[in-house]
Amino acid sequence: MMKQIADLRDTRTIPTRTSFLPLSRPDIGEEEKAEVLDTLNSDWLSKGPKTKKFEEQFKDYVGAKHAIALSSCTAALHIALLTVGVMPGDEVITSPLTFIATGNAILYVGAKPVFVDIQRDTYNMDPELLEQRITEKTKAIIPVHFAGLPCEMDDIQKIAKKYQIPIIEDAAHAIGASFKGKKVGNIGDITCFSFYATKTLTTGDGGLITTNNEDFARKLEILSLHGMSTGAWQRYSPTGSAKWEMVELGYKYNMTDIQASLGIHQLAKIDSFVKKREDIFCFYDKMLKEIPEIQIPASRGYCKHARYIYPIVLRTEKLTAGRLELINHLKAENIGTGIHFISIHLQPYYEKLFGFKPEAFQNALYVSDRILSLPLFTKMTENDAYYVVNKIKGFIQKYCV
Ligand SMILES: *Cc1c(COP(=O)(O)O)cnc(C)c1O
Repeated sequence: MMKQIADLRDTRTIPTRTSFLPLSRPDIGEEEKAEVLDTLNSDWLSKGPKTKKFEEQFKDYVGAKHAIALSSCTAALHIALLTVGVMPGDEVITSPLTFIATGNAILYVGAKPVFVDIQRDTYNMDPELLEQRITEKTKAIIPVHFAGLPCEMDDIQKIAKKYQIPIIEDAAHAIGASFKGKKVGNIGDITCFSFYATKTLTTGDGGLITTNNEDFARKLEILSLHGMSTGAWQRYSPTGSAKWEMVELGYKYNMTDIQASLGIHQLAKIDSFVKKREDIFCFYDKMLKEIPEIQIPASRGYCKHARYIYPIVLRTEKLTAGRLELINHLKAENIGTGIHFISIHLQPYYEKLFGFKPEAFQNALYVSDRILSLPLFTKMTENDAYYVVNKIKGFIQKYCV
């Protein structure tokens, strides 16, 4: 062990820092600011021409036929489940290692979340375990592209097709990702994206759905705006008609033109955002891969990774200190970290409601107890990452067995 640490020693000086290095930081340019101002000076603030433009731009980016911009990814998941017809008492399959929003959306429609354990290297749903979780009550499968690495979509789609179950992808981490040359957003039946403040593309808060299914698109549009047959933009614009009817019980989930003003310019920079994150991501990989106490994120040759977060799994069985000690150690050195995620089946609310046992999902349990995300954002420098790596090495050296 000590030898391996010594081998990793680098000749460059260890940078010091007095300012806090956060887990994530948004990247808002002058274009975004000017566009927001332009919107504020216009007559249209809520969903209108800029949201339409953002939707057009987004569907072109992923190559999907329809895009519906929304207030959040949580809203997207909720109305996606309603759109494919999930009813109270039904079951929806997903990964336990995800943000609670994925599970909560399933609860909003009165369905039961059924978890498929994750793979130990990608932290994505294990397709080998999927089929055995399907029952006659299964009405949707929600693969979550963890950290931005696409799930095994070929295997998942094959099983979904066999049982005719729609796929709703939680692509909150996966803007810019692709699977075997196909962009995420143009693979499953419905794909849900997030533009929350920490996400790779941000509109402060926001979400978006892509689909190639025309009926789904129409229904999603209606569900996102109170169940009204036409939106305000169609009603109040110079060419619009004031007539509308309520045809479904919908929600108030639309995006606003203020948010879309950010989105338009963020999307134009998305590939360069992903590239900058990739540089830091690969630097972490290079610097941490020889440390036996740390498991670095997996990659797949046929996938383009969206690089949303950099999660390490701390092999605590090789250490005399745990994740909390590492978090505090890094915090004391001015480094922010995050936990993505505590497995949903371990959340007290879910445990109480469904009686999930911690060991029911062994890999999710193992990873959930040990995973930690390191700072990763576009404006980070290699020196920042080098500083983080050094502080981690100091911790490992102190506590390795
Ligand atoms: C962020 C996130 C969401 C929720 O996104 P919001 O836009 O904040 O509602 C859903 N799923 C995953 C995996 C996320 O990380």
